[in-house]
Amino acid sequence: MSLAVEAVSLTKQFGQITALHGITFSIKPGEIFGLIGPNGAGKTTTIRMVCTIIKPTSGSIRIFGYDSDRQAEKARQILTYLPEESGAYPNLTGWEYLNFMAKLQAQPGTDIKAVVAEAAEICGLGDRLKDKAKTYSKGMKRRLLVARALMTRPKLAVLDEPASGLDVMHAYHIRETVKRYAREHGVTILLSSHNMLEVEYLCDRVALINKGQLVMEGTPKELKTKYNSENLEEVFAKVVGYA
Ligand code: ATP
Repeated sequence: MSLAVEAVSLTKQFGQITALHGITFSIKPGEIFGLIGPNGAGKTTTIRMVCTIIKPTSGSIRIFGYDSDRQAEKARQILTYLPEESGAYPNLTGWEYLNFMAKLQAQPGTDIKAVVAEAAEICGLGDRLKDKAKTYSKGMKRRLLVARALMTRPKLAVLDEPASGLDVMHAYHIRETVKRYAREHGVTILLSSHNMLEVEYLCDRVALINKGQLVMEGTPKELKTKYNSENLEEVFAKVVGYA
């Protein structure tokens, strides 16, 4: 079976800025894979390349065997992307938004009603789905958007900081949803996060990017053992040089 993501020697140059210096990693089907690293390390750049939004300067990415450059259309059909800064259309109700996005995202022949019903269950917003998105709190909006990213059961869902800045209740809901969804439906998840508790709880494997380089990779347990640390935060601090 092909890997879910196979990124080889990725570099990215933005003018004078080298955002990535040649990173290589792979994600197995069904895995929850976490990208961690300090601000500006290159996580979003990596994620945007996996989602075929930007092209690497050099190197290659395969998504379930599809080349992200030559077969970008094919890759886009099997992945969904939740950007870090993302919003729902403010004047659409939650239902209208999910219905609109389901029609855009779903493959021809898909039962749209069933997809929207699934999204409603995932987000758990109940009656509030009848209200316009502009009346939602930040946490409610994010739950709607996470549901949008998962509702079509993509082969790969890419979530850039899915629960960042949310209160405990909303963040908890999102984490539980992502974990359950990946397990029950075999959806492969690539996510980035600054919350080490979240990463340790959710991720099967983790890669740390620092200054555009991939400096460590492994299961949370392997990394804690290797760096003789009690938790991932301590590992992070040791590897990045804060500790
Ligand atoms: P954060 O945790 O703060 O979101 P990040 O790890 O996601 O950071 P990136 O957003 O990937 O980091 O940025 C990596 C580097 O590339 C930074 O130096 C950033 O300024 C630069 N960069 C990213 N996008 C662009 C762009 N479109 N043009 C110029 N420089 C960019």
